[in-house]
Amino acid sequence: MRIGYLYKTLFLSELRAGLGVTWRNLFRPKFTIQYPEEKTPQSPRFRGLHAQRRYPNGEERCIACKLCEAVCPALAITIESEVAADGTRRTKRYDIDLFKCIFCGFCEEACPVDAIVETRIHEYHMERRGENILTKDKLLAIGDKYEAMIAADKAADAEYR
Ligand code: SF4
Ligand code: SF4
Repeated sequence: MRIGYLYKTLFLSELRAGLGVTWRNLFRPKFTIQYPEEKTPQSPRFRGLHAQRRYPNGEERCIACKLCEAVCPALAITIESEVAADGTRRTKRYDIDLFKCIFCGFCEEACPVDAIVETRIHEYHMERRGENILTKDKLLAIGDKYEAMIAADKAADAEYR
């Protein structure tokens, strides 16, 4: 045991073994990409930033059923509902706390009207306290901006299933 240790120390065998790994990999194809100019492929089922969707006529899809709030394992969703002027049930508050969210997708799965979705957007950041709360207005704005992408991903997802 002692002799083996001395041999390794004297002849730097562990160091040479490590350098051998370096040399072997030096000439292999590289997998590094120049992000953000280059990006790796992303599944249409990727679960990123949330969005609230509207119907093509502009009406909010969400009917304040609170299924998403009930199913959320992280208790990240807070909903308050009210009866709108047209007699329909709507949310007056719909918050998602991104610090609590674990991006499991259960809210999207539970929604009966495809209102809450997780988009493939993963490049976002927060600069100020409180920006981790995605309010209803923010969610609808994201949905409005990326509706074409969301609809295409939904269609691709349906084919995949
Ligand atoms: S993705 Fe999961 S953890 Fe995040 S809000 Fe939806 S249900 Fe909750
Ligand atoms: S987002 Fe969907 S599941 Fe959640 S309250 Fe609205 S309609 Fe119900």
